[in-house]
Amino acid sequence: MSLESKVKKIIGKFPYNISFKIKDNIVFLEGVVEKYEEWVEIGLEIGGIKGVEGVVNKIICKEIPEKQTEKDEKRKEIFEKMKEKIIGSYDIVIIGGGIIGTAIARELSRYKVKVALIEKEPDVGLGASRANNGMIHPGIAPPKDSLKRILNIRGNAMYDELTEELGVRFKRVGSLLLITPRTLERYKKYLRGPLFKLVSKYILPWIVKQKGVRNGVKGIKILRGKEIFEIEPKANKDTIAAVYIPSTGIVDPYELTIALAENAVANGVEIHLNTEVVGFIKSNLSIEGVVTTKGVYLCKYVINTAGVYADEIAEMAGAREYTIHPRKGVILLFSKDIEGWIRHCTAELRFPQPKTTKGGNINPTIHGNIIWGPTAVEIPDKSDTSVKKEEIDFVLKKFSTIAPNFPKNKLIRYFAGVRAPTFTEDFIIRPAKWVKNFLHVAGIQSPGLASAPAIAEYVINLLRKMELKLDPNPNFNPRREPIPSVAEMSLEELERKIKEDPRWGRIVCPCEMVSEAEIVEAIRRGARSIDAIKRRTRAMMGFCQGSYCILKIAKILARELKIPLNEVVKEWKESKLFDGIVRGESS
Ligand SMILES: Cc1cc2nc3c(=O)[nH]c(=O)nc-3n(C[C@H](O)[C@H](O)[C@H](O)COP(=O)(O)OP(=O)(O)OC[C@H]3O[C@@H](n4cnc5c(N)ncnc54)[C@H](O)[C@@H]3O)c2cc1C
Repeated sequence: MSLESKVKKIIGKFPYNISFKIKDNIVFLEGVVEKYEEWVEIGLEIGGIKGVEGVVNKIICKEIPEKQTEKDEKRKEIFEKMKEKIIGSYDIVIIGGGIIGTAIARELSRYKVKVALIEKEPDVGLGASRANNGMIHPGIAPPKDSLKRILNIRGNAMYDELTEELGVRFKRVGSLLLITPRTLERYKKYLRGPLFKLVSKYILPWIVKQKGVRNGVKGIKILRGKEIFEIEPKANKDTIAAVYIPSTGIVDPYELTIALAENAVANGVEIHLNTEVVGFIKSNLSIEGVVTTKGVYLCKYVINTAGVYADEIAEMAGAREYTIHPRKGVILLFSKDIEGWIRHCTAELRFPQPKTTKGGNINPTIHGNIIWGPTAVEIPDKSDTSVKKEEIDFVLKKFSTIAPNFPKNKLIRYFAGVRAPTFTEDFIIRPAKWVKNFLHVAGIQSPGLASAPAIAEYVINLLRKMELKLDPNPNFNPRREPIPSVAEMSLEELERKIKEDPRWGRIVCPCEMVSEAEIVEAIRRGARSIDAIKRRTRAMMGFCQGSYCILKIAKILARELKIPLNEVVKEWKESKLFDGIVRGESS
C-alpha cells in the first residue's frame, strides 16, 4: 500500500474533512477537529506509519483558543525592527540553551569555530532540562530500530567521563523493574492459576531481559524472592520477580546543564541570554542570519535545539517537518531525611504498556531526596507547568504500589516539566530537507538527558557531513571546577577555607548547609536571580524550601549586584520578590 493510501485510510476513520499533502515523506495535515485528543490521535496514527519522517499537524482544534497568530504578529514586528542591527558573525548559531544546546555548544568548543548559543530565558536550562527525573536511562525502553535507542545506549556510557571532567555529581544507582500481581492483571483471564505465576516469575522477566540485551544494555539480571529485598528492602513484598539493570544513573539535570554551559564559555562559546529568536534572513535556500530580539546573528549554520518550540523555529526558517505535541509530566519531591528509603530507580511494570511513556518511577536523586513520577499527559499549551491537586493525588496513588509503606508525609515540593515529542515519537536529528544549512535536533523527549552527550557527538558528525570544517581547538580544556560545597567538605578543608575567607563559615541555608561564599561564587559565575542561585548552590532546596534564608540570599544578591533589594527577582524580570521599597532598606 502506498503512503498516500495509508494516510487516507487513517484519516477516513475520523468523522472530519481532513486534507493532506506529502512531500519527501513529510505529511502535512489540514482541517478542523472538535477535540484535542483527536488532534493528537490523528497525528500519532499517521506518525506511526512506517516511512513517515514527520507530521506537520496544522489541523485546527475547536477546543483550543488560537494564540499563534498573535505570537506570529509580534515576532514579525520585532523582526522588522531588528533585521538590520548586526550583532556579529558566527560559524554556528545554536538556538536553545537546554541540556541539548549546551552539550552541543561544549562539544563544538573542541574545535576552532565561532559559536553563539541563543537562549530566550535569563538562564540556561529553564525548559524541560530543569524539570525532569534526572535519570540516566539504561536504554532498555526505546524501540530497537529507533535513533533514541542508539543515542541512549551511547549517551549512558559517556556519563562517567563527562561528569568527572565537569565536576558534576553522578551515580550509577541501577534500576529495578518490578513484576508484581498487578503487572499482568489485565491478562488474568487468559493466565489462570499456576500459569499466571509461571509467566510472571519466569517468562516475563526473561522477555524483558532479552529486550534489553537486544537493545545493547549490559549486566541485566533477573532477581527473585529475597534477592529483591536484599537490594531494595522497602519494595512491595508482593513482588514476584524483578529485572535489575546496573547501568542506570542519576544526575542533577540543571547542575549538568550549567556545567556544560560554563565549560563551553570557558572554551570560547558565546552564550546570549534573554535573547529570543523571531525569524531568519534567507537567501538561496540557506540561512544567512538569525534575527532575535537583540539583533541579527550572521551565521553559516543553524542548530535548532529549541525544545517544545523547535517546530515554531523550523517554521520560521521554512524548514517545518514536524509538529511538537507537548506532553506534561508531574513529579513529587520528598525530603532528604528519608534518604535511602528507595535505593534504585524503581518502577512497577504494567501491561499493556502505553506507547508514549515509560511509566515513571520512584527514584533517588543525586542529592538524597526521593522523587515520584512523572505523569504523561498531552496538553495543548507548551508553557503549562501547572500542577493540580488531582495530579498529585494521581501520582501518590499510582506509585504507592511500588513501596506501600512510603512516608508520604515527607512530600516537600511538586513541579511539572513539558516533554517535546513529535508525532513520529523518535528523536529528529538531521539536516533540514529544504534549507541547506539548518540542522534539526527536535523531538528530544525522554531519554533526552541520558542521550545528551551522544546527541552532541552525533551532531558534530552531521555537521562534518554538511561540510563544516572542524579543526581541533588546541586550547580546549575539558575540565570545569564545581563550586565547592560546605555540605560535602571535610572539617579540615572547611577550616582552611574559613581562614582564607570567613564567608565559608557563614551558613546562610542551614537545611542544605550552604555558605555565603558559595552564594557569592554562584553570582560571580552568572547567577542573577534567587532561583539561579538555588540551581547552582542548592540553597533553599531543603525542608523549609527557603522560608528561612530567602531574604538573606536576596540581600546578598542585591549587595553583590549593587542593585536595590526591591529589584531582586525570583527568576524572570516580572517576578520581583518585593512589591515596592523594603522597610529598613534603602532603594
Ligand atoms: C517530566 C519529565 C521527566 C523527564 N525525565 C527524564 C529523565 O529522567 N531522563 C532523561 O533522559 N530525560 C528525561 N526527560 C526528558 C529531558 O528532560 C529532555 O529530553 C531534555 O531536557 C530536552 O532538552 P532540550 O535542550 O532539548 O530542551 P529544553 O531544555 O526545553 O531547552 C530548549 C531551550 O530552547 C529555548 N528556546 C525556545 N524557543 C526559543 C527561541 N525562540 N529563542 C531562543 N531560545 C528559545 C527554551 O527557552 C529552552 O531553554 C524528562 C522530561 C520531562 C518533561
